[in-house]
Amino acid sequence: MAKDYTPTAKEQAFLDRVEDPKYMREIINGLAPFLGDKVPEDMRDFYSQQELVQLGGLKGSERDVEKRMPVKVTRHFFELAKKSKPIQRLVKASPDETVDLAGSEDPGNQMDYSPVEGLLHKYEMGLMYVVSTCSAHCRFCYREELIARKEIARQDGTVAKKGLAKIPEITQYIRDFNAKVAANGGRHPESGREKLREILLSGGDPMVLNNAKIAGWLAALAESGIESIRIGTKEMAFYPQRFDETFFAMLDAFHETYPEVGLHMMVHFEHPDEFLLKDDNGDYIQDENGIHKWVPETEAAMRGCLDRGWITVENQTPIIRDINDDVEALRLMQREIKRVGAENHYFFCGRDIVAYKAFNVPIEKAWQIMNDSQKGLSGVEKHARLSITHYKGKTEVAAVTDKPIPGLPGAENGVVIFKLLRNPADAQEVGRVCIVGRNPDALWFDDYADRVLFDEAGLFDYSRVTNPSLAAT
Ligand code: SF4
Repeated sequence: MAKDYTPTAKEQAFLDRVEDPKYMREIINGLAPFLGDKVPEDMRDFYSQQELVQLGGLKGSERDVEKRMPVKVTRHFFELAKKSKPIQRLVKASPDETVDLAGSEDPGNQMDYSPVEGLLHKYEMGLMYVVSTCSAHCRFCYREELIARKEIARQDGTVAKKGLAKIPEITQYIRDFNAKVAANGGRHPESGREKLREILLSGGDPMVLNNAKIAGWLAALAESGIESIRIGTKEMAFYPQRFDETFFAMLDAFHETYPEVGLHMMVHFEHPDEFLLKDDNGDYIQDENGIHKWVPETEAAMRGCLDRGWITVENQTPIIRDINDDVEALRLMQREIKRVGAENHYFFCGRDIVAYKAFNVPIEKAWQIMNDSQKGLSGVEKHARLSITHYKGKTEVAAVTDKPIPGLPGAENGVVIFKLLRNPADAQEVGRVCIVGRNPDALWFDDYADRVLFDEAGLFDYSRVTNPSLAAT
């Protein structure tokens, strides 16, 4: 694999235009500053004395909450949290997190699809880990293995931390893969997959990188033939000030240089308290027509993207217990996201991460909450679907019925219908369904294993891909 990368003249001309200011996120990193009373005066009550004693007591033990997921919060998010319990729960560590540590270190067996370190190749799309942290850390994070820098067992038996993507290796992989696809009439000769044409910059949060680094990725991907780039970020919630003039000037220069490449911001708001302005009583502030006011910095960040027209903004979020398992909150969030011009993309059932039982809402309850939240929304406001990421690929929780299906044994309490939305290995399976008898306590697919009624999607007859070279060049 290539070790060096030399930008083209066109690329370099774009990179030369990029400015890199310093940002003042005022991050509190770790529990230690709270435990040692080293946080600014106004942050001292963020954890109660009792919480600090409990969390401190777990330090160094198997149940150490920071071994599972490091604690991190920005000043901006702390200010929002002062007026919101759900926002506090999002970033505050709790001793309950490590009571049951069941779960997977590599949810979705992601590494099965990693032909090059830092890249997951999923059919037409690649997801890249470009950084291993975010401005703040969500306690339920489904990348906790990356952020906590855990050692992951790979399918070949080796054990190592997940590595980050590097421009020379990734761009060479894309070029080689796509050259083979082109030479073979549109499908890769070994895996049968089509062109790798879309990349999601992920991590961690790419927006913690400076403008020059983000620009370096955008240009290198554009030069290697990628048609569409997504940036997966929660920075609009954690530190919206990052979306400043220099960032947008960089994107403008990129668009001027590579106008053919699509750009999408995949944002992550879980709750309207992350972007709506509240008064001192904790009530949302509305104008005389009942229109909600946004937190000014967040509104500016959103507007900066949407006013450009060629950037789309899509929101996606898991439904997490005691954070946003709340019909009214989700309804308001969907309305507001659409009102300002962004899209509601996916809701997710929590993944089977380590300690998932502390965070996940049962699958059928999550469906009910999402469904109820969409009652009273207009057609354009309720585009979001509920997805659960099966090892086999992204799967929609398409329907949950209350009534039995006459004549179908096992359906006496109703059924859940899953539909395969994508399969990283084979696009032809998309659209297939699986029907299981209901289990209101089910948090993960395992909990339905004894009640499968119909499974053309193969969700319960699944073996891991044995060939990470599904993507082999
Ligand atoms: S923003 Fe995403 S990657 Fe970062 S901590 Fe939260 S869930 Fe994890």
